[in-house]
This record gives sequence, structure tokens and C-alpha cells, in this order.
Amino acid sequence: MIQKCKTIVEFIQDLYKTKEFISLHEPQFFGNEKKYLNEVIDSTFISSVGKFVDQFEKMLAQFVGSKYAVATSNGTSALHIALKLIGVDENSEVITQPLTFVATANAISYCNAKPIFVDVDRDTMGLSPTKLKEFLEEFTTQDKSGFCINKTTKKVIKACVPMHTFGHPCKIDAIVAICNKYNIAVVEDAAESLGSYYKNQHTGTFGKLGIFSFNGNKIITSGGGGMIVTDDAELAKRAKHLTTTAKIPHPYEYIHDEIAYNYRLTNLAAAVGVAQMENIEIYIQKQRELAKQYQSFFQSDDVRFVAEPKNCTSNYWLNALVFKDKNERDTFLKYTNENNVMTRPIWRLMNKLDIYKDAQHSDLSNSLWLEERVVNISSSILK
Ligand SMILES: *Cc1c(COP(=O)(O)O)cnc(C)c1O
Repeated sequence: MIQKCKTIVEFIQDLYKTKEFISLHEPQFFGNEKKYLNEVIDSTFISSVGKFVDQFEKMLAQFVGSKYAVATSNGTSALHIALKLIGVDENSEVITQPLTFVATANAISYCNAKPIFVDVDRDTMGLSPTKLKEFLEEFTTQDKSGFCINKTTKKVIKACVPMHTFGHPCKIDAIVAICNKYNIAVVEDAAESLGSYYKNQHTGTFGKLGIFSFNGNKIITSGGGGMIVTDDAELAKRAKHLTTTAKIPHPYEYIHDEIAYNYRLTNLAAAVGVAQMENIEIYIQKQRELAKQYQSFFQSDDVRFVAEPKNCTSNYWLNALVFKDKNERDTFLKYTNENNVMTRPIWRLMNKLDIYKDAQHSDLSNSLWLEERVVNISSSILK
């Protein structure tokens, strides 16, 4: 195993042409970032007014093929607002996957709602439509108005948040079909999957709402930033209202018609976002090229490289390996991190965190299996 680790480390060092520290995913800037930042600073409109926010929204909506996009301060706030738009509140519950970044579950908690964790599929690492259907059939009923009621808690299951893990699309059409039948709104956590397509349709556009993140480690970045996408004009309008302190437009008066949030994206951040969006196709192409190199390297190995699922085009944001067992995985994690190549195990399952240990969940055998075996490897695009 150590010999195998050594060969992998050498392969990665060759890819990046360095023996210095190699991080997991670094942002890269080769476009108009500095130019637009200078423009913003010269204009003095660095904060909430300025043309780059509008432009960033238009570019993203057009790229993913949604009618509307609303910029937010980050992906987590985008998810929080998206759930509020669905009406998720203290009397509701939201189904999501236990194998995700904590922000997915936290956004549910910000609405004072409870998450329910349903298992993922092994091939996509995203929410499993089969397990979702099983859960709904066994644990829920429909009330007279057609709402989906959790038999255990008697609360309404209002939303379902599938996540496209590491940029690989989950079986989103099947998930949406099931949720439609049960009157559950789908909010896609597409934070990791900008540039990923399921059956040629962009991830994030299957549900009622979708969200993206432009954090520093994502495929493109605005330093910090997020986006809510939807085809529903009314929801888009409300998203803008709720993320901008619910201020009624007025030339000089400050009137706010509900308690809302300051989740705006600054013009400064949007300027970087616009410059990055201009090169989005290059970023995706380079991520995919890197993945291809890994894929051919690991072809004849018993360590499995995670390839894009059937019917999908993945942005390959974070490359991942699946080890035979936890032992091999641990050896690999230790060896790589001790040898200047940063690697990271997949997230601890949400239901194992103290903060979510009381959450309801069904059989999580696939999540548990992946939790012990999956490791992310160097994924910065090659220069
Ligand atoms: C990055 C990420 C988020 C949150 O995005 P931020 O911009 O960091 O708030 C949410 N969900 C998932 C799955 C993510 O990877």
C-alpha cells in the first residue's frame, strides 16, 4: 500500500510539476479580474450599488439556462433564502442527504425546520431516488390538502434538498418526479456543480429553485458569493427582496415591509465573479482534462477513480478516489498529507455530528460505505 501511495504522490507531483505543498483546490485568475476590480474602485461603487451584480446575475442565468438569478453573499445564504421562499419554517421538515457539506443542513436549521437524512447512491454520491421513494412510502402519509406528513412527527415535509456531490449530478429527474408526486418542493444544492449537466440540462435548474456558490474553493469564485436560480418570476422577485432587507424601493425613504436579511453580494465581489464567468468554459475544460489524466492513471488500479455518472457531464470540481476499505484509505490520507500532497476524506455524515445526532434518518448503508472509503485528491486546474 505504501508503494502505491508513493506512486500516486509522484504522479500528482508530475502533474503539478512541483514537490512543494499541493493544495486541494486553488482559485486561478487569468482574465479581467484586476481590470474590473480597478473599475469598481475607481467608480467608488464597491458595495451594494453597481453594474457588476446585475451583470453577474445575467451571465449566470444565461449560462445555466434559468430565467432568473439572484446574487447573494454566499451559497449558504442562497440556500437559506431558497428554503424560506418555499415556506420552510418551524413546523416543517426537509429531506436531504447525510453525505454533504454542513451548510446544506444548517440552512434548514436557520429556518427552524428539522432535516431528515435519506441515503445516497453509491455511483453518484448524491441523494438516492430509490431510498427516497422507500422512505416516503414507509414513513409518510398525505393529508387532505395533499401535503406530505411525516407519520413519526406529524409535521409537513415541505422540501427536499438533493446535492450534486463534488460536481457529479445525482439522479435529479427521478428525484423531482417522486417529490412532485408527494407535493414536496425540490431545492437543488448545486453549490459544487456549476458546469455540470444531467441529460444535457444544467444542474440547479430541475427543482423549483437551485443555488450555486462562488466560495474561494469552488470551480469559479467571487471571493465569497452565491446565486439563487429559478424560472419563477415571483420567487425571483421575493428572493431579491428578502436578500436586501426587504426595502421598498424609494428615492430616499427607508421603509422595510418585513424582517429580512442583508445577504447582498457586493459589487466588488461581483466584479471578480463576472471576470471568472467570462472564462467558465475554460475552467470546465481544464477540470475535465485533469480528471481524464487521473482516470487513465487509475484505470488499472484497484483504487477506483470516481467518474461522471451515466447520462451526466460533470465539472469534476473535486476529484475523488474510492478505496477498498477504511484501512487503505487511512494509510493513503496519512502518507499523502505527510508528503506535501493535501488530500481529504469525504465529510463526516451529518447525522454523526453532535448538532444533528437527533435527526430522523432511514437506512444509510451507502452513505456509511462511502464515508469510510472516499478521498478527495488534488483538483486545482493545471496551468
Ligand atoms: C460550498 C458549499 C455550500 C455553501 O457555499 P458557501 O458559499 O461556502 O456558503 C453549500 N453546499 C455545498 C454542498 C457546498 O459545497
